[in-house]
Amino acid sequence: MTDTMLAAVFHEHGERDVIQLERVAQPQPGAGEARVKVHACALNWLDVGIRRGPQFGAVPLPLTTGVDVSGVIDALGADARGWQVGDEVTLYSLITCGDCEFCRAGEVTVCPEHQIIGEHMNGGLAEYMLAPARNLIAKPKRLSHIEVAALPVVAGTAWHMLITVARLAAGESVFIPGAGGGVASMGIQIAKLAGATVIASTSTAEKMAKARDLGADHVVNYRDDDWVEQVIALSGGRGVDVAQDLVGALTWADSLRTLARNGRMVVCGSHSGKQFDLRIPQIYHRQLSILGANGASYNELRRVLELADQGLLRPVIDRVLPLDQIREGHRVLEEHDHFGKVVIKISQ
Ligand SMILES: [Zn+2]
Repeated sequence: MTDTMLAAVFHEHGERDVIQLERVAQPQPGAGEARVKVHACALNWLDVGIRRGPQFGAVPLPLTTGVDVSGVIDALGADARGWQVGDEVTLYSLITCGDCEFCRAGEVTVCPEHQIIGEHMNGGLAEYMLAPARNLIAKPKRLSHIEVAALPVVAGTAWHMLITVARLAAGESVFIPGAGGGVASMGIQIAKLAGATVIASTSTAEKMAKARDLGADHVVNYRDDDWVEQVIALSGGRGVDVAQDLVGALTWADSLRTLARNGRMVVCGSHSGKQFDLRIPQIYHRQLSILGANGASYNELRRVLELADQGLLRPVIDRVLPLDQIREGHRVLEEHDHFGKVVIKISQ
């Protein structure tokens, strides 16, 4: 008889109540795969978006999402090299083709064939999951499983956006809106490590204090009518060199307004809306750049995990919930009722 496990599953897209806790068969690792006993899995906007409906092409149903995983290898398939049962690991969630011009150039985040573990195949919101052995990374030893689960997507994405794509340099200034978001909370820390001056925005006095605690030099409240003018004043009246926008249609106009001439806006995410009415002359008059960024490479993820292991990058955790409160976790994300990650604790 096959062993079973608990998994958070949805059989159709919809509101939070489509997510069910079900007892399903434990997956068996195939060639090149490892089975990971999941200790913790953080939620991302991706989990909410996929549950509501397919984001970029169809996803298989029923589906268990969950991209940010920390756990222990429990079984290995044939040819799963480099790992042993009992190794503590976290997950690089992107599976790329390896063959296209972008993969061959090492630009894996733009592989047109890429798939995501936890979107195109079952992810970590279950007691066990499968992953290609080559997608595993050793868990940073100094951090707990819960702390590690709070890192991969947000820290990798923030590094890719600010350091790789926007080429943020020491001495520059950066505006990071929505400081309570996972990528923003990592962006503040990474920008400080890069030697930049950070101006963040958020909505309450409590969240403003937390943003300062992460290292933001200045924090404005985006509920103030004149917050854009405040950002410009705080950057010495010239505007910032880089704006990191993860929000989308709601914030693009204002993020562009915060930029200095020659400024770069780096973007990843559009959950507030996908369409935006762009006033084109401001782009060429002020010589602005709009830069897309998507995910992170395996090596970028390994680098941010090393920084975390050295204590230079701090996981930011809003709350830890058990698997049976997965719908509550989705609610917290949907209502923006958090500062940092919501982590689901799955086993000890
Ligand atoms: Zn490719």
